[in-house]
Amino acid sequence: MKMAVFDSHKFDRTALEQVNAGSSHDLAFFEVTLTQQTVALARGFPAVCIFVHDKLDAPTLRALKQGGTSLVALRCAGFNNVDLAAAEREGIHVVRVPEYSPYSVAEHAMALLLALNRKLPRACNRVHDGNFSLDGLVGFDLHGKTIGIIGLGKIGSVFARIAHGFGCRLLGYDVRHNDRLTDELGLAYVSLEEIYVKSDVISLHVPLLPETGHLIQRATLEKMKPGVIIINTSRGALINAHDLVEALKSGRIAGAALDVYEEEEKFFFRDLSGQVLQDDILARLVSCPNVLITAHQAFLTREALQNISETTLGNLTAFAEGGLLTHELTFRPA
Ligand code: NAD
Repeated sequence: MKMAVFDSHKFDRTALEQVNAGSSHDLAFFEVTLTQQTVALARGFPAVCIFVHDKLDAPTLRALKQGGTSLVALRCAGFNNVDLAAAEREGIHVVRVPEYSPYSVAEHAMALLLALNRKLPRACNRVHDGNFSLDGLVGFDLHGKTIGIIGLGKIGSVFARIAHGFGCRLLGYDVRHNDRLTDELGLAYVSLEEIYVKSDVISLHVPLLPETGHLIQRATLEKMKPGVIIINTSRGALINAHDLVEALKSGRIAGAALDVYEEEEKFFFRDLSGQVLQDDILARLVSCPNVLITAHQAFLTREALQNISETTLGNLTAFAEGGLLTHELTFRPA
């Protein structure tokens, strides 16, 4: 079946083509994101494949349907960028990759925490420049510290296990409880308030939903333990970035490590070096010595790319053969 792959990069093209070598799908790769402005490119493709920065709002979905598309295959787990109600109205099926490697994201979250706490980017830059001074590089032991984990699904659970291995005390908040985390790791499920008040580090692993948008904002930042570190590898809009900057400036927050940013689709995945960054909040965050930013790369491991490609092409095959779409998303009214 013909599938147009949007927002494609060398790494996902390579992985998809390798997995597709044994099947007969006809893949066309477009570097642009799929939006109202680019949807004409999808005309004639029964399936489109998208990632986190493509924006499938109601007009784009209508245009897709008019152009002959009836399958949207997300090659990611999060689906906040697709209007599922509109897709249902248009009769477009939406499938995703619910799990590809929770380890990739959880390990990146811990890598960010370690790098930020031990000031590794600054330390490496110094040594590279022949400066072997240690002043200003003091971190803290993670052992014995309290880590608050918001969202204990697939990724949050793996992060909890990693943090447990470091000897951290674990607090968790989730709408559902997983007794194994309590029994095996001693994780205590508590209220959000308690997470804010007691945690030395807070790591976000909830999906972006209407009820989780701007979960971290001025009022919640003010409740946090002074000196807390915030890690976000989930979705940028979980944090009000303006309020985060204010909390960093006042010194209330000791640091933030972010793999995601609310306005990231305008910047991430592109080489904008040599240009003036056109987002004052992002520029401010980038300039803070106690902020570490990666450009939505937490998923980027060989294993994750292989699994994403296998599940995506499996979804496409099931659709082409009229089989059961096991990874289909359906609209659930709030
Ligand atoms: P998951 O569905 O397994 O887990 C999400 C957890 O959040 C569940 O346990 C659920 O009960 C909980 N939850 C949902 N709504 C909640 C609410 N209102 N309050 C408290 N808890 C709530 O998802 P996952 O695979 O662990 O992924 C988590 C998120 O990570 C994804 O939604 C995605 O946004 C993000 N992600 C980021 C990357 C990256 O590269 N940075 C890659 C994959 C996923």
